[in-house]
Amino acid sequence: MADFRIAVIPGDGIGPEIVEEALKTLEKLGAAYGHRFSFTRLLMGGAAYDATGTCFPEETVPVCRQHDAVLLGAVGGPKWDALPGPERPEKALLKIRSGLGLYANLRPAIMHRALAASCPIKPENMGGSMDVLIVRELTGGIYFGEHGWRDGAFGPEAYDVERYSETEIRRIAHVAFKAAMSRKKVLTSVDKANVLETSRLWRRVVTEMSADYPDVSLSHMYVDNAAMQLVYRPGQFDVILTSNMFGDILSDEASMITGSLGMLPSASLSDGSFGLYEPSHGSAPDIAGKGIANPIATILSASMLLRYSLGLTEEAGALDRAVTAVLNAGLRTADIAGKGAACLSTSQMGQAIRDRIGQPRA
Ligand code: NAD
Repeated sequence: MADFRIAVIPGDGIGPEIVEEALKTLEKLGAAYGHRFSFTRLLMGGAAYDATGTCFPEETVPVCRQHDAVLLGAVGGPKWDALPGPERPEKALLKIRSGLGLYANLRPAIMHRALAASCPIKPENMGGSMDVLIVRELTGGIYFGEHGWRDGAFGPEAYDVERYSETEIRRIAHVAFKAAMSRKKVLTSVDKANVLETSRLWRRVVTEMSADYPDVSLSHMYVDNAAMQLVYRPGQFDVILTSNMFGDILSDEASMITGSLGMLPSASLSDGSFGLYEPSHGSAPDIAGKGIANPIATILSASMLLRYSLGLTEEAGALDRAVTAVLNAGLRTADIAGKGAACLSTSQMGQAIRDRIGQPRA
């Protein structure tokens, strides 16, 4: 029997509801496969602010480091929107990512066949089935560059500086090349090299590195074209490599093409096996407490945790298959149900997935 220690940050809004379903699901898998998961719950975001006066308690990073991985719900909400910028819950996300050295964000966007009706794009325009992995740089670029306000010649002005070093580009590009090697071996590097110096460096480094990955077919695309191509023919992409801000935007766009934000997991990785796993969506304050949030993105994030941090690929596969089986059986939460269709609650969806763990492959 193997023991695994997981730090858990439920967060705000729907965070606690969806994380609870993921934890119960890990426990079910543990019982089925003979592993023991222990969970250490931590406060971060608005919940931490209310309890301790800060959104990012000092012990967050050191305690997370004592665990094998971190599972996070989501943070933020209107209750804390009036806090000054540096104290806002969303700032805690940037701090935990940089504090834990999580520079690689992996966001798979897969179109489940059973959810084709929720896709806003006509099937004949998909250009193949959509299965994209977006590899986003997470601890550099404009979100972490010098920023501020100052007096300008014509009144107040504000600035945010985009900066990337060759080392930062190289390490995230390695992650993307390796991911492409384990998939269809097609890598699209997205930048804005016709305008930005950081993008010109990005393109030069990625092009040089392609010599080390001769089996991967590399192409470059400007971000404005990539945004257009994602809705024009999403099926053309395999792995997309891009910077922090471009990845933030493109991954949300990709997620909507698959039907709902409530379906998409993410992994944020450092060197080695440590990682933080969270749904791609936010804390959805509009539906918090109603018991109707879709827990699938968080449950699939737990599956990525099993695969990337704990090396439990068989168990992760069993979980992914359980989710697919639930969707194929027509079970839906409100966000992915058609108009007037019956809907499961958050906990019913979690239970339906758990019921299918350990069932023979279809
Ligand atoms: P959001 O992702 O929370 O919600 C957007 C829409 O999608 C809402 O209508 C919501 O109800 C719906 N939705 C999201 N997740 C869902 C789920 N699992 N099931 C069903 N429907 C779901 O984005 P937002 O409204 O822009 O942000 C709300 C708060 O979340 C803000 O405070 C924002 O800063 C924060 N946020 C946090 C994170 C994070 O913690 N990683 C990420 C994005 C936004």
